[in-house]
Amino acid sequence: MLRKLLFWSCAVVFPLPLVLTFDSLSTDPEQLKFYIFLGLTAYAWWLLSVLLSVRPSWLDRFVGLPSVYGLHGMLGVLAVVAAYIHRENSYAPSPLARDLGDWSFYGALAVLFFSVFFMSGWLVDRSRLLLKVKGFLEVLFRHQFSLWIHRINLVIVAAIWLHAHLLVRMNQYFAFMVLFDSYTVIVLSIYAWKKWIAPDTYLTGSVTRNYALGGSTRSLSVKLDKKSTMVLPGDFFFLRFEGSSAVNGEWHPFSVTDDSQETLTFTIRQHGDFTGRLGAVEPGTRVRLEGPFGHFESIVQRRDREAPLVFLGMGAGVAPLLSLAAAHHTTRKIHLLWAVRSPEDAYYKEVLEDYQKASDDKFRVTVRVGRFRREDLAGVLTTEEVMKGSFFIVGPNPGVLANQRLLRGMGVSAWRIHQERLTM
Ligand SMILES: Cc1cc2nc3c(=O)[nH]c(=O)nc-3n(C[C@H](O)[C@H](O)[C@H](O)COP(=O)(O)OP(=O)(O)OC[C@H]3O[C@@H](n4cnc5c(N)ncnc54)[C@H](O)[C@@H]3O)c2cc1C
Repeated sequence: MLRKLLFWSCAVVFPLPLVLTFDSLSTDPEQLKFYIFLGLTAYAWWLLSVLLSVRPSWLDRFVGLPSVYGLHGMLGVLAVVAAYIHRENSYAPSPLARDLGDWSFYGALAVLFFSVFFMSGWLVDRSRLLLKVKGFLEVLFRHQFSLWIHRINLVIVAAIWLHAHLLVRMNQYFAFMVLFDSYTVIVLSIYAWKKWIAPDTYLTGSVTRNYALGGSTRSLSVKLDKKSTMVLPGDFFFLRFEGSSAVNGEWHPFSVTDDSQETLTFTIRQHGDFTGRLGAVEPGTRVRLEGPFGHFESIVQRRDREAPLVFLGMGAGVAPLLSLAAAHHTTRKIHLLWAVRSPEDAYYKEVLEDYQKASDDKFRVTVRVGRFRREDLAGVLTTEEVMKGSFFIVGPNPGVLANQRLLRGMGVSAWRIHQERLTM
């Protein structure tokens, strides 16, 4: 909680140097200054949002990637609100500066609506109808296309940068302009480094096995060129396959399924364009891996060792939970609940039986065809699990939210429920 507060306070701190420097130099009337501050704050928030989009691994370990994306999205909303008030209440003598400001505002508004609908789960995770509409429209607006639309934010940043440079009200203050340009150059340089240079430093490996698990899921193993001690149980990576004409170029997140630091095995449900083509990936294909990301293991380590761990996985969402189970089934009390679509989809039954045998009764498994309803959970969870357990839920967003509500209704306190949703 404290970490999250510290992290969210960046939104307040980041624009301050720009605002305070301008305040100390400008002789504009106080009221006009206030609206200029809002413009500067909106610009700083867009820059911070770009900075967060590079998803630094250390920041993920500090607060978790969902929080990073949460602040990224929230800054997008707040920046548009601040820009709106700035635009309505200030004036720009230069017509070009005015036009750039207007285009940027409308561009940012359009990107915001698009991103909230297609990229965040804010709306679609809470309405089945909207989720269906999104699924229908994704034929046109695929995730990769959405990523490109999202990058219009960079054009908006460039347009606002020029807008500020054209205004005498701003450009007459050399010290302020140096600071303003430094913010811009540093953020855009970090972004460019992350896109074009950092991938050369990522982990690499080769596909060793790729086979079907049931009708719509695959197990894909990647032997790393060098063992990575950074990989923790429950972690996930963004993967890019190289030199495979079927699935070249795109980064997609997948969780590791066991606790090896040499060969990483992924369990991948094939339900879209990219995952649907994974069957064509041959052993030997080179893979680049951005990560590791994830904070499940650090939560497990912080919890009382006697308190039970309850893992609730939906479909391929079982992957990170299996990885945690692999690491802890002999030492911790674990109850794994796995919801699958059909009996054939319970493809890890043998692995689970092996863990059970080795666990000296510490590891329990409940597999259910279909979702867990309240009465199912009430029937299989022990009082100790409900009262003291740490719950980890992984699956598609609406399923995660529904299970979270069920558990809360049964008396599991919010701070004991941790989750990972399979879209960002
Ligand atoms: C942290 C995390 C861990 C994951 N772990 C697993 C796993 O272990 N096994 C598994 O089967 N799936 C996992 N997923 C989901 C998996 O990344 C998506 O199903 C996959 O990227 C869909 O690609 P697609 O082109 O086949 O589907 P599409 O038809 O393009 O998309 C299907 C859905 O996945 C989302 N999606 C598509 N591309 C991405 C992307 N690059 N990043 C985030 N979301 C995307 C879309 O918004 C859409 O709602 C994980 C997702 C996240 C965020």
